Amino acid sequence: MQGYVHSIETMGTVDGPGLRYVVFTAGCPLRCKYCHNPDTWNIQNGKKMSVSEILDDFEHYRPFLKNGGLTVSGGEPLIQLDFIISLFKQAKERNIHTCLDTSGAFFTRDNSGRLKKFEMLTEVVDLVLLDVKHIDKQKYFELTAGNLNETLFF
Ligand code: SF4
Repeated sequence: MQGYVHSIETMGTVDGPGLRYVVFTAGCPLRCKYCHNPDTWNIQNGKKMSVSEILDDFEHYRPFLKNGGLTVSGGEPLIQLDFIISLFKQAKERNIHTCLDTSGAFFTRDNSGRLKKFEMLTEVVDLVLLDVKHIDKQKYFELTAGNLNETLFF
């Protein structure tokens, strides 16, 4: 399984508990006015990487990350749902703590196939950092050009 990766940070300190290996995925459906990483918006700007490639690289840093783990951020990771499930599933098999940093955009209860995959995701993720950009629906749209319902339903 391969995914589009924007960049990797090998010693993240603000993306979950402890020191984290942070995979920033490419592609995001939101257009936040304050976005500090617009170069993540286009999935095609990412580099194709396999799950094993990422986890084998993680192993090089494991001694430093023993009280932390693996975080996937973006961009918006949920647009590569199959890749994230596969990455976290194999991370758990290697006894790695998994954390998802998401805006919740792209979540839906209307598509049973996607909902099933979200259920699979919950089985392999230890921690979700849900970034609610604004609590007011209209202001959320003005700020992100997205739909607050997707975030709140997550
Ligand atoms: S969700 Fe994150 S990456 Fe996407 S536009 Fe907003 S700040 Fe940028």
